[in-house]
Parts: sequence; structure tokens; C-alpha cells
Amino acid sequence: MEATLSHYFGYDTFRPGQKEIISKIISHRNVLGVLPTGGGKSICYQVPGLMLGGTTIVISPLISLMKDQVDQLKASGISAAFLNSSLTQKQQKAIEQQLLNGEIQFLYVAPERFDNDYFISLLHQLPIRLVAFDEAHCISKWGHDFRPSYQDVIYKVFDLPQDFAIVALTATATAEVQKDIMSRLNINKADEVKTSTKRRNLVFKVNPTYQRQKFVIDYVNQHKQEAGIIYCSTRKQVEELHEALEDNNVNSTIYHAGLTNKERERAQNDFVYDRVRVVVATNAFGMGIDKSNVRFVIHYNMPGDMESYYQEAGRAGRDGLKSDCILLFSERDIGLHQYFISSSKADDDYKDKMGEKLTKMIQYTKTKKCLEATLVHYFEPNEKLEECQQCSNCVRENKTYDMTHEAKMIISCIARMKQQESYGVIIQVLRGELTDYIRYCEYDKLSTHGIMKDYTTSDLSHLIDELRFKGYLNENDEILTCDSNVKSLLNAEKVVFTTPFKRKSKEKVSINTVEGVDKALFDELKGVRQKLSEQLDIAPVSVFSDYTLEEFAKRKPESKQDMISIDGVGSYKLKHYCPKFLETIQSYKAQI
Ligand code: ADP
Ligand code: MG
Ligand code: ZN
Repeated sequence: MEATLSHYFGYDTFRPGQKEIISKIISHRNVLGVLPTGGGKSICYQVPGLMLGGTTIVISPLISLMKDQVDQLKASGISAAFLNSSLTQKQQKAIEQQLLNGEIQFLYVAPERFDNDYFISLLHQLPIRLVAFDEAHCISKWGHDFRPSYQDVIYKVFDLPQDFAIVALTATATAEVQKDIMSRLNINKADEVKTSTKRRNLVFKVNPTYQRQKFVIDYVNQHKQEAGIIYCSTRKQVEELHEALEDNNVNSTIYHAGLTNKERERAQNDFVYDRVRVVVATNAFGMGIDKSNVRFVIHYNMPGDMESYYQEAGRAGRDGLKSDCILLFSERDIGLHQYFISSSKADDDYKDKMGEKLTKMIQYTKTKKCLEATLVHYFEPNEKLEECQQCSNCVRENKTYDMTHEAKMIISCIARMKQQESYGVIIQVLRGELTDYIRYCEYDKLSTHGIMKDYTTSDLSHLIDELRFKGYLNENDEILTCDSNVKSLLNAEKVVFTTPFKRKSKEKVSINTVEGVDKALFDELKGVRQKLSEQLDIAPVSVFSDYTLEEFAKRKPESKQDMISIDGVGSYKLKHYCPKFLETIQSYKAQI
């Protein structure tokens, strides 16, 4: 196995998961491999394909990639070919003949090929030992990129007379999608090989900016030597942002489905060959593009689900060097996705599923917890969580609430329970609730029953989450257990901080403690409000609430358009009150 790897590919060792996947394949088992982007999935079918001999069929949804893959194999002295619509009749005939002569070791095809009866009859005659499904999440209805045509492909593959193994490979699949792929492709639970989704070199950031264009221009100007991708959700936005970048002397190119094949190919090549460092694109760009030094991926809009996000963001840093994955987010993105879902022609079941996925994505943009851990938790719910110490949430400095005391109460409550319990039960016991189950287990007799009765259920889940994300509590199928490192907390060697979590009434919020509010600007804006209130003879807070002024002082909106998205700004106030505030913000900004 190692000999094949080093002989053809020049690598000395396998990456995590590769060897296990390959061993299973050569002992004729069907396998699902879940490896992160850049984890080396191709090797997982190429090495066993070479070892088994005969022809390996690689089914891939990405026509644009086939040529690259085939060229790379040929460059390593391996005979490979692809069959797709880009070839002439004559070229296809030549490849078919080579296949029949047993001269081709790897054949790449798109799922559509299986509609062709002649192709199927050709397959029947080949010495097939292995069939690989690349980007296997496309098989599953619950995946983020479902291709219905795969139903038929799977049926026809299983109908082939040869005896061969099947390998399915993907980077982004939830537990549910994994299960679905395994049942469709007849893969045993024991033959699933997963390596961690974690990629420590990716630094995740969420930025709820109201000035996305400005953010992008500043960012690319501050990272002048670096290549990156900026994803927008519509062609129009791609073009607008591209123009804005040009106006600011940033050399960029665009990529979306509205361009001709030639134009897209040129854009892709310009990027891959470092002729242009920034691509502004829709999600049509990037699947499988082999450019390892992408230093940043910025999402101008929020994608509709975490799989899409992680797959797109994961195109950064394939070379293992530190890279930024930044999600810019505006509430308006949510509406767009909700519209997509409700106007889609799918059945209700499917729509519900997409709605759930969207909710998870929105939660990612709003969470105060570690972003990396949140992503890992989404794909691997039972994985031990760890804070990454580098995402935009981990580096925030607003964890000001010392929760060590609460942590001790929670931990001693869990430790006293006679068996492992779920979130819900633990919270009920802490709050001193009496249910049949609690009585049955005699948890009401514990000294810890009701020790946190002054905390709401949501306060408690916040505290418990913090302990999970800090690795003091572990979760397995909703069951919480203490990690051995809780000793350091109980022995007072460690303390735990969290973000202030108790809901305060509005009056009590002290302006100084609100993160990011520019106090000097806030005071100026209050002055403007005061004047307006006198002119109009209405109370200052009826002009704008403190909250709205705080938002102004935080976001520093530049236009009416920026302002309308701030809570408390309606169209009437926008027209009549906002100009004065905008003026003040502008002149304030000019001074600093
Ligand atoms: P993906 O899992 O995203 O499909 P690829 O198969 O395209 O990843 O592999 C990513 C890169 O890693 C390629 O350049 C590949 O040659 C390289 N690679 C794969 N396996 C190994 C290995 N065992 N040792 C070193 N490099 C490897
Ligand atoms: Mg791949
Ligand atoms: Zn983090």
C-alpha cells in the first residue's frame, strides 16, 4: 500500500483515514470516507484502484474538474480518461475503444452518463473492481447539494454483473446524510471512516457589519499579498462588488453561472495561476478547485446551511497555513433564504428540513460560543468540544462574568446523580422542579435539588453550554457527563468566565458596558436628539430610543440604507429624523 503511494504519488505516509479506507476497499468492502476538504480523498480511490487492477469508475458531479484530475493522473504515469459532454464523438469513440482494450485504469464520468444505454452496455464489458462516488453528499436527499439523477445511477451500478467494491467520499455530511449514503450504497456502519472535521489552521470570524462593501475593500487592502475568494449570493451582487473593488484599485475577477464557459474557464485559470488574487463569485465557483494557498474566504452573504458554509469556507488554507474564513452577515440574508425555501417546489418534509438547516446557520451567526467548536458540533455532535482560542468569539474580551460559583453548583449536582442524565433533567433538578421522574430517581432528596432555583432555564443552558465549550462537561447524545478536568475547578485552581447572561431590563443597561458603542459619538447623537425633541416638542426617546442611538454609535451607518436595518428606524423617521444624525456621524468620522 505504502509502495503504491510512494511509487505513483511520491508521498511517504498516509494522511489520517486514508489507510483505513484503502484497506477496507482492498478487502472488498464498501466504504464511506468522511475526510475534510484537502484531506486527500482522491488518494482513497486512486491507490486501491491501482492495487486492485482493472478499471475504476469515478462518478463525480464536477465536469470542470475531471480534466484536471485526469491530467494529474496521466502526469503520474497512470492511464486515465473522462467521458463527458465536452468531448467530440470521435474522441469518445477513441476512449471507448481504449476502455474495451483494458487500457484505462481510471474512468471519470458525470452521473448524467448513466442515462446513456450505450454507456451502460460498455460498463457491462469492463473489468470493474472499484466504483468511487466522489462528493457523495450529492446522493442524499438530506445533503446540501442533492442531485436527483443519482437515484438512477445507484440503481444501474448495483445492476452491473461484476464484483466490485464501492467507495463514497465526502467532506461535508451531517450524521443524517452519512446514514443515508450508507443505506443507499449498502455500506455497513463498521465501514465508515471519519476523521475530524476540525482544521486548526482556519480562523473563523463572524462580522455582523452594516457596511459590507467597505469591510471587503478594507480587508483586501490590508491583505495585499494574499489570494482569496469572496462569495456573494446573487450575480448582481457579484458584479456590484467587483465594480467597487475595481474602483478601489483592487484587481479582481468574477465567476458566476451567467458567464459563458470560456469566461468562467478564464476566471478560474487566472485565479489558479495567480494572475489575479481575488475572485468575487457565486457558489458556482470553487468546488474542487485545486489552489492550496487561498488565504481568505469571505462570505458577503450568509449561506442557507452549515454544510454549504463549511464546504465553501473550507476552500481556504488547504496548504495548512493560517487562513481566515469570514462570514459577513445581515438580517436581510435570512429573508432571502426563507423565500427560497417557501417558493421551492419540494415536498413539505424537505422544506421543513431546509428550514431546520437554515435555523442552525442563523444560530452560527449569532452564537457567542466558539465558532470552530460550533461547526464541529454540528457535524460531530458527540465530539468533545474545545474552544479554539482564535475565532472571533474566542478572542472577544467580553467574558466578564465570573461563573466559577455557578459552575461548582452545576458540577456537584451532576456528580451526585445516581446515573447519567440529559440536559433537561439536570436543569430541572437544579431549578428544584418536581416531576415523576425526579421523584422516582429521588433527585428531590439531593442537597443540590433547587440550589439554582433563581436561575431561568435559559440562564442554566447558557451556563451549561459554556462548561461544555470549555471542555468541563462532555455531551453524548444529549447526556451530560463531567470531564476529569472539573477537579481543577472544584479545587479552586481554575476559574471560568462567561458573557453576562442574565437578561437585564433595558433601563439597567449601562452604556459604557455595551460592546463597541462609541461613547463620544453617542453623546453627540444625544445632543442632536435633544435639539430635535425641542423643535418637535416630543420626548427625546420618542425621536429614537437609547438603544437605537447606541446602535448608531456602534455601527456608524453611512447611508439611509445602512440605517433602515437598525431597530427603531422606520421609514418615517428615516426621512424626517435620520438626515441630521447621518450628518453628525459623518462629521464625527471625519474628525477621527
Ligand atoms: P480532497 O479531500 O479535498 O478531495 P485531494 O484529494 O484533492 O483532497 O487532496 C488534496 C491535496 O493533498 C492534493 O494536493 C494531494 O496530492 C495531497 N495529498 C493527498 N494525500 C496525501 C498524502 N498522503 N501525503 C501528502 N499529500 C497528500
Ligand atoms: Mg476531492
Ligand atoms: Zn473559537
